[in-house]
Amino acid sequence: MRKNIVAGNWKMNKTLPQAIELINEIKNNKPNNNAEVILATPFPYLVKAVELVAGTDIKIAAQNMHQAEGGAFTGEVAASMLTSVGVNTVILGHSERRAYFHENDALLANKVDTALVHDMTVIFCFGEELKDRQNNNHFNVVEYQLRDGLFHISKENWKNIVLAYEPVWAIGTGETASPEQAQEMHLFVRNLVDKVFGREIAENVSILYGGSVKPDNAKEIFSKPDVDGGLIGGAALNATDFFGIISGI
Ligand code: 13P
Repeated sequence: MRKNIVAGNWKMNKTLPQAIELINEIKNNKPNNNAEVILATPFPYLVKAVELVAGTDIKIAAQNMHQAEGGAFTGEVAASMLTSVGVNTVILGHSERRAYFHENDALLANKVDTALVHDMTVIFCFGEELKDRQNNNHFNVVEYQLRDGLFHISKENWKNIVLAYEPVWAIGTGETASPEQAQEMHLFVRNLVDKVFGREIAENVSILYGGSVKPDNAKEIFSKPDVDGGLIGGAALNATDFFGIISGI
């Protein structure tokens, strides 16, 4: 059985005191259901975040990492640095990294490899832009993002992979994909994984939806058979909304 996951991607938000307050609130009061909760905080707070959630089942993730093992890469963060502070999950391929930091599929394939060498869990993001959907090219775009950035991995590596479908036009816009649009793409992706890696892997990989998930639409989106949770941006920044979304699982 695949896991249900609600992951908060805090992006470049919050100061340390605000981060501590939110983590404590989530730790102490989050709804208890079968959702695994992951918090992707900014880099400077990861050590503290890991310390705060120790002894709970909340996981802390990084929002990015560099593909090299280490060395002269000013301003970058290596996989071994993350694992050395207890962070074993990383978001890769977010559309904001692709758009603003020019991360392409080849680079992402490298980052995935590095994360897997360190036995990290990768939340691999993909999704089409508005023009792709308008041109009815969204399935193609998603297929190639997956084939070129992720599908070089071995079957054994899939236990470390979570997929996150985030249509770019739905991120931070207030415009959510309809539950039917999400389901249609998730099913397409699961069938693609099946075609390349087999049914067992396809059935076991969690596929999250991200893009303007809010407490009032989460339940309906999560009720779709191939939607296994969400990757949440804006609504993960306050406990009330985040709890409302977790309750939708
Ligand atoms: P929003 O929930 O703010 O649309 O962001 C989604 C996202 O990008 C999560 O990674």
